[in-house]
Amino acid sequence: MNIALIAHDRKKDDLVQFVTAYRYIFEKHSLFATGTTGQRIIEATGLQVHRFQSGPLGGDQEIGARIAKNEMDIVIFFRDPLTAQPHEPDVSALIRLADVYRVPIATNMGTAEVLIRGLERGDIDWREVIKNMRQ
Ligand code: PGA
Repeated sequence: MNIALIAHDRKKDDLVQFVTAYRYIFEKHSLFATGTTGQRIIEATGLQVHRFQSGPLGGDQEIGARIAKNEMDIVIFFRDPLTAQPHEPDVSALIRLADVYRVPIATNMGTAEVLIRGLERGDIDWREVIKNMRQ
């Protein structure tokens, strides 16, 4: 599965911790991330991560474009609800596209935990069926 990982600055430590804790699951999948988030994950875990631009420089839009092409199966986006973001429209657009294409998305650690354990159990295998149908 293709997994997109994004965290706003004040949530990056949480995401690094999360990926480290579930490394044994993440290492079985293809990881994609916005620039700085990806860098942090690579440094902390040594996992292979495809890095897009930094979020404020277009990275969220790049991930949105992959969602629109049905190339992302899961999005984990630890957004910061307490800080204004210069690229707020891009953040909203990304979340909107995940809803348009019914891509499972978690915007906080509680949901991300359920999602990643579900992934491990095979609860998200239906994504493979959908991908094959649209090809
Ligand atoms: P970053 O982007 O990983 O490059 O910091 C995340 C974001 O702010 O959307």
